[in-house]
Amino acid sequence: MNRLKKIAIIGGGIIGMTLANYLDTNKYNVTLFDEPTGQATSASAGIISPWLSKRRNQKWYQLAKDGAAFFPKLIQDFQLDDTIYQKSGTLIIRPAEKLDDLIDLAEQRKLSAPELGQIEKLSGEQTQLELPLLKALPSIKISGGGRLDGKAYLAHLKNLAEKKGLTLIKKRVSLPEQLEEFDQIILTAGPHLKNLLAPLGYKVDLRPQKGQLLVFDTSIKMSSNYPVAMLDGEADLIPFMNGKILLGATHENDAAWNLEPTREAFTQLTQSAEKFLADPQRLFNQPYHVRVGSRAYTSDFAPFFGQLNEQLLVASGLGSSGLTTGPYIGYLLAHYLNTGQKNWAIYQNELATYIKEAALDS
Ligand SMILES: Cc1cc2nc3c(=O)[nH]c(=O)nc-3n(C[C@H](O)[C@H](O)[C@H](O)COP(=O)(O)OP(=O)(O)OC[C@H]3O[C@@H](n4cnc5c(N)ncnc54)[C@H](O)[C@@H]3O)c2cc1C
Repeated sequence: MNRLKKIAIIGGGIIGMTLANYLDTNKYNVTLFDEPTGQATSASAGIISPWLSKRRNQKWYQLAKDGAAFFPKLIQDFQLDDTIYQKSGTLIIRPAEKLDDLIDLAEQRKLSAPELGQIEKLSGEQTQLELPLLKALPSIKISGGGRLDGKAYLAHLKNLAEKKGLTLIKKRVSLPEQLEEFDQIILTAGPHLKNLLAPLGYKVDLRPQKGQLLVFDTSIKMSSNYPVAMLDGEADLIPFMNGKILLGATHENDAAWNLEPTREAFTQLTQSAEKFLADPQRLFNQPYHVRVGSRAYTSDFAPFFGQLNEQLLVASGLGSSGLTTGPYIGYLLAHYLNTGQKNWAIYQNELATYIKEAALDS
């Protein structure tokens, strides 16, 4: 009998954990290493609604669109319940004069993304009926939008992985120490990929970006019935179950690896949101805590994933939309390892755009 190939995954965020659960255990003996300091997935806001993005990168949009369309399969495969993912709908709050153009964009995008669902222009009163925390401001409602609780998703998938017999180890790993033990290693370490690959002579186009968001504990019992609100500016409002209302998030390029919550973030987020709220102080006076995580960005803001050499595969650079693209990237990598089929050229530039051998880059 053939021995099972030994695979290590380094990084247990949304890519690594999804990939681990999709790997074929008849072929692979899987070990996942994770040390979750600054992990983006568990700090994230949870918005799954990429369709009205104004980003011009077509490959990114294709990936984000297909990532959102992948959710029904993900829900089915891993039996995600309402405490993890909800198709809540998304409200997009913009000045009244911009709404018609946005509706045109939504109609156009819906032609290739029917999962976007119904598109409705709402009056101020209708917006408030959907989400009473808001002022009476006109909006667009996209019924296919959803919210994913990143932390709950990882906890659920960790359980499934343990049941499948995968080995999960809480440990910070460095290369090349681990190389000899495994046939294949997949690096899904967020912005840390840069440091992991440095001792092997690779230069990676990646930078960390600090993100902070506020989690208010309110007594609003109906919160799970509310849609997500994408406000105009830095802050979005994401209601979850049991009165948990998220307000986030900051995009701090100068704070790099710093994971301290700051008073400035509270001020920035609340100031940015207050003009949209019916009674801002009522929310801001509730008990809250701050979540902090590090996003990974490339110079062109696009993710990358694939095979770096015979032994190593990589995935990173998901930026601020990695809850949307991450599960699908994890699935595509697992599908490749399980079947040998690569279905990802349409989604990204060549890996060499982002990862160079240091000697060749001088
Ligand atoms: C505040 C905030 C809000 C966000 N909101 C949204 C949103 O609303 N919608 C959306 O789509 N996306 C959102 N994102 C983006 C999304 O969370 C990320 O793009 C995505 O989670 C990245 O997943 P990942 O698996 O690549 O990395 P991560 O989730 O960061 O996981 C990488 C893991 O690898 C571990 N690791 C690193 N190095 C090592 C090592 N040497 N050994 C062991 N373990 C290691 C890390 O500690 C971490 O646990 C948000 C991000 C932040 C920070």
